[in-house]
Amino acid sequence: MQGSTTESKTIRAERFAPPDHLLPLSPQNDPWDPIRSLQRYGRHTLTSVEFTVTHLCNMRCEHCAVGDSLAMTEAPHLPIDLMLRRLDEVEHLETISLTGGEPTFREETVRNIIVPLLRYARSRGIRTQLNSNVTLDYSRYEQIAPYLDVMHISFNYTAPEDFHEVGFARSPRAVGTAASAKLYERMIENARRLSQEGLFVSAESMINFRTYNKISDIHKLIVEMGCRRHEVHPMYPSSFASDLPMIARDQMLEAISRLLDDRSPDVWMLFGTLPFYACGDNPRERELLARLNREPNVTVRNDPDGRNRVNVNLFTGDVYVTDFAAIPSFGNVKEERLDDVFERWQNHPLQARVNCHCPAAGCCGPNLLVSDMYYRDVDFTRRRALL
Ligand code: SF4
Repeated sequence: MQGSTTESKTIRAERFAPPDHLLPLSPQNDPWDPIRSLQRYGRHTLTSVEFTVTHLCNMRCEHCAVGDSLAMTEAPHLPIDLMLRRLDEVEHLETISLTGGEPTFREETVRNIIVPLLRYARSRGIRTQLNSNVTLDYSRYEQIAPYLDVMHISFNYTAPEDFHEVGFARSPRAVGTAASAKLYERMIENARRLSQEGLFVSAESMINFRTYNKISDIHKLIVEMGCRRHEVHPMYPSSFASDLPMIARDQMLEAISRLLDDRSPDVWMLFGTLPFYACGDNPRERELLARLNREPNVTVRNDPDGRNRVNVNLFTGDVYVTDFAAIPSFGNVKEERLDDVFERWQNHPLQARVNCHCPAAGCCGPNLLVSDMYYRDVDFTRRRALL
């Protein structure tokens, strides 16, 4: 009897593990980091495509970076064959990300769009990520998990009350605390179950006015859910987040230092869109970067938007260099190859302003949101890492 329990546990644990021939994702192997393609090809190259598969969502988070584009109904998707053809043409494709809204909001989207795209990717050995709030029925995630590499969730809470306050702040209808608590429990249960069944679950937290002084407690809950990675980004004032209070860079730095002191050494910590650079004037910020570089199981990812990635709207076909969409569309998949749209962006003056590279620091410059917020008058192409 005991033997069969052990056996069924083993089978459950491997149910959603990726096939053996794919190199495991790890701090040493993060194909989403644009520094890899820059090193390999000597210039920024399109290796990553993100699809917006829905504008529907059951939540309305106060910080939602695409909140202004959320809707109550939506048009039909473009034919999947067109998308697969456009993906076939991307010469150096390595990763695909699927985002929303909540991508699983409609079951038809799961069946007709998400699963076919993931199966296509798996057949080409391309790595995939789905951005989800995992608050819906487990069966939706169960359909997706066998073909998926990374289930990416947002987690900024220490209790159901936080989730209610943050998650429904911009909701057109009032959502009661009991209904919200049920979703909170389901999100935790789904994340835990997917992790137990072998899926790589990566939980992202924002550093902002609500989380900066309890980020270590949030980290503990993420570890308890069995997530393999904790991804941490500062919040930037885009879309719904535009009117939220911002914290000072010092507070951000202190929150990250505390998190490094308190973190579990077994969970990969991935930091991104940090406003600190090795060419910066502030020695404390440079020291923090040096520490992030030294610590085992910790990485700082360069921002993919417009560096190795474009975003495609699966309804209109419009192509963006960032899913924040503050920069207008750069082309359309109905008319153009993605490599061609990407090439045009590489020659754009906005991209030129932040197109720097210091190989010794493993850095390829700030993204446009960060540069707009903190470095408006700085020409990064004239700076060098101080190492
Ligand atoms: S690559 Fe750019 S942002 Fe990074 S250290 Fe060098 S000059 Fe600074």
